Amino acid sequence: MIRNLSLASNRKSNYVKELEFLSRSSIYLLKNSSAQKLFRYVSQNLFHLTGAGISVSEYDPLTNSIIVRAIHFSGSQKNIIERILGLKVLGMTLPFDESTRKKFNSGKLSKVSGGLYELCFKRIPEPACLLIERTLHIGDIYAMAFVVEKDFIGTIALITRKDSKFRNFQLVEAFVNQCAVALKRIKTEEQLLETKHVLETEKARLIELEQKKDEFFGIASHELKTPLTTVKAYAQLLEKNLPSELDKPHSRAQRYVSRLLSEVERIEALVNDMLDVNKIVQGKLTYHQHEFELNSLIEDVIHTYTLISPKRTVIKEGKSDKKIRADENRIRQVMINLLSNADKYSQSARKILVVVRDSATEIIVGVRDFGIGIPAASQGNIFKLYYRVSERVQGFGLGLYLSSEIIKRHGGRMWFESKEGKGSTFYFSLPVMAEAG
Ligand code: ADP
Repeated sequence: MIRNLSLASNRKSNYVKELEFLSRSSIYLLKNSSAQKLFRYVSQNLFHLTGAGISVSEYDPLTNSIIVRAIHFSGSQKNIIERILGLKVLGMTLPFDESTRKKFNSGKLSKVSGGLYELCFKRIPEPACLLIERTLHIGDIYAMAFVVEKDFIGTIALITRKDSKFRNFQLVEAFVNQCAVALKRIKTEEQLLETKHVLETEKARLIELEQKKDEFFGIASHELKTPLTTVKAYAQLLEKNLPSELDKPHSRAQRYVSRLLSEVERIEALVNDMLDVNKIVQGKLTYHQHEFELNSLIEDVIHTYTLISPKRTVIKEGKSDKKIRADENRIRQVMINLLSNADKYSQSARKILVVVRDSATEIIVGVRDFGIGIPAASQGNIFKLYYRVSERVQGFGLGLYLSSEIIKRHGGRMWFESKEGKGSTFYFSLPVMAEAG
């Protein structure tokens, strides 16, 4: 009776010891964040638990191979193995055998019936394997995979001696499965870190490219400005001084010169936009503000616009006699940009509406067209620099970015409503001057 009791308490204490071991290892595994440290931890602990020679390998899905990451043998066993094989066991890479995956994937220890030769996926000559087995008195060999939700991460092998028997299979299995979960977490974290690093490097590269692009635009537009002004001056001179026999309203020479002038003006507008963008990016765009009536400026722009583009009718609705304090040229630039966009993206629609209304605090101007509209998916990007919905119509995606920056700098807002195929209305608001008195 007493003997039975002491046996029971002995068994119980073993059980408690095993539980303690698992809870200690789970704490270590929670804290550990290095796969290599974990492989060493597994090999040391399995060696102490079983007394068997241990090899821990990692699966590399890229090369579909198994790489030995940690080993633990007693005495000179490791040296003997390495002498027979003529190579180092640690770091040894073996092409992975698919059938092994199925065999070891069960989450349980399986006996490797073909001994060392099978353990090495038959990649090491059989006589060498047999010689090692004989020299080291190798008995049964067991293997098991680190596997989490069918994700195969690596393997462990227990190489026992003929004269020894180990029995605590369940403890080994629980421990290896615990390690597999930790390994999976570490690998996921490593992958996340690597992805983060790649993204950060990529981001830094993009920022550098962006800066180079801005620099290039800045230099290119600067360098273009002077010769362009000269070309324009000569084209204007040419227009004025055409020989009298060529200076007829519809003569070929007259048409060529006015085409030349309008193209030069188009390039000039683009170069000016590029220069402005560069200044905005560098925070160097200056504003020369004074008081004026926005309503008169709008009417003036519409008037000039109908002279150069008579194919569409621009109708103005509403008015405001309130004054604003702003950079008149910059606000004119915004208005010209909205009108020319309405024109560019109108297709066959003949009408453009300009609506002006005010409140006690602001004047709102809307430019409405009945053209192609903007697809819903693109609407979030419209004010971004260089953004263009489609390349079908010429442009560079500078105008709306510039306009919105200018309006923002005046304390106003810019927004739009649009329906694909129906048209768009672009609005801007500017604060009115407080009434005197
Ligand atoms: P750009 O017209 O030179 O491309 P913008 O910055 O003025 O540059 O406009 C950016 C993009 O917004 C245009 O490429 C066009 O796709 C779209 N867009 C602007 N205005 C309109 C409009 N009135 N109707 C439809 N699409 C427009």
